[in-house]
Parts: sequence; structure tokens; C-alpha cells
Amino acid sequence: MTIRPIQQQINAIAVSEGAGVTVHRTLGTPALKNLDPFLMLDHFGSDDPEQYIAGFPDHPHRGFVTLTYMLDGHLEHRDSMGNRGDLRAGGAQWMKAASGVIHSEMPKQSNGLMRGFQLWINLPAAEKMRDPAYQEFGSEAIPEVVGEGTCVRVLSGDYAGQHGVIDDPHTDLRYLDVSLQPGSEFRLPLASALRGFIYVFEGEALIGSLNGPPLLPQHSLSVLAEGDVVQLEAGAAGVRFILVAGRPIGEAVVQYGPFVMNTRDEIEQAMRDYRDGKLVRAKAVLKAID
Ligand code: MN
Repeated sequence: MTIRPIQQQINAIAVSEGAGVTVHRTLGTPALKNLDPFLMLDHFGSDDPEQYIAGFPDHPHRGFVTLTYMLDGHLEHRDSMGNRGDLRAGGAQWMKAASGVIHSEMPKQSNGLMRGFQLWINLPAAEKMRDPAYQEFGSEAIPEVVGEGTCVRVLSGDYAGQHGVIDDPHTDLRYLDVSLQPGSEFRLPLASALRGFIYVFEGEALIGSLNGPPLLPQHSLSVLAEGDVVQLEAGAAGVRFILVAGRPIGEAVVQYGPFVMNTRDEIEQAMRDYRDGKLVRAKAVLKAID
């Protein structure tokens, strides 16, 4: 059994998105353009409503999946599939944009807090132009495995006999939210066939490592190198992180803003379709916002 060391570590940079919302981006920056099958990771969070109140008004996506996980506050969303809802703290939303979705995402605070993640997961070529799909789960639906000094929320994939609620059939996705008290350890068998990373958002973690950095600081994304098992321990103040892994797709990635396809021609087609009002297909009508 080889403990998977850290291959690369990215510190978050602040990026302005939507109508001027500041997000902390790691994956999807010049330092790490993508990590097949993952395209982008944004950590959004603020105690200042002015920073995000304008939210993310109607915008398009094509060719991939967005997975949103709220930690605090909530997110009002509407989309061209007809879904409209309010994703609350602890809940998760999986949206397969595929051939095209137009949606709005409007973050709201609760008790002065608003925090969460959005992960972009690529789709294989054969799935990019299929119909969109959607899954949403409230906090109560997400299994939690509580141990001594540990709490693991299982969003997707298996952990300690629990099966996550989000099913991403294209990448064998694992997505865990792990909290460790000081002195606690986390261990998860994770085959090298799955590419993965750890993003620390509270405290820091330590990892046994021969070559890579042994410390995983707050707001860093650490790419896991090859091995058999993920094993790390909490820093002096404890740690909370997400562990995300999936099977690489192994195809060309051509990205232009909210469109992620395999070729430049397909990107140009997406831009034409959006311009001509043809991005959203079959039966999907954008509902008017109240
Ligand atoms: Mn979006």
C-alpha cells in the first residue's frame, strides 16, 4: 500500500465572476488549467453581501457538468430545464448542462454567512450534445459518517459503507466533505486510476510525503500523485477539506468561457447557437423570473 503523496499544490487566486462576485479559484487558473476530468473549482464565500448580492444572472453552459455544494447561506437557481429552487446549507446540486442550459445562480446569506463550492466536471464527447439532466439533494439526504474526531459527508461515491447520493455516471466521481479534529487522521483507499485532489477550506492538514509538500494549508488545492491510499492528519487547529476524485476522460479539451467542447469548431458552433437562441434545445423553455 502506497500513500498517495502531493504532486502539485495551487494557492487560490481571487477572480471576479458573474455580476462582480469574488470567488477563490484554484483549478482552472494558469497554474492548473484543468485536471482531467475536472475543469474548474471555485470556492465562494463572504460575510459581506455587497460582494455577491448581484449573483450570477442568466448565463449559458454547454459540454460539461456543474456540481454546487453549499456550506452556509443558500443559492436561488432557475434554469431552462424548468428547475427552480433554493439550494440550502449542506445541500448539493448536480447539473449536466450537456447540449445547453441557461440558468441563474443567486447566492444569499443566512445569519451573515454564505459559503460554498462549484466544481466543473467534463463530459466525454459522446455525452456533450445529449439532453441536460439535473439532481438536487438537501442536507438531510447526504450521508454522514461520524467517528472519533471525524465527520465525513458523502456527497458522491463510497466511504465506510455509505454511498453518496450524487450519481455522476461518466467519471466514477468521489466527493467527500471531511472534518477532522486536532490529532485525528483520515484514510481512504483510492486507486491511481482515479485522479483526485484535496482542497482545504478550514485549518490545515499534514500528509506523509517523500517528495511533495507535507503541509496542506488553508485555501490550497493539492493534486494527489499516484498510489493506493489517501492518508493525512489534521493540523493543530483541525482541518476541513473536500476530497474529489474521478476517472480521466482522456480527450482534447477546448474551453471558451462557459462552453467546453473537444474542438474549436464545436466552440464556434456553441457561440453561434447561443447568439441565435438555439443553445437550449428540445422542450427546455426558460421560465420568466418573477
Ligand atoms: Mn452557471
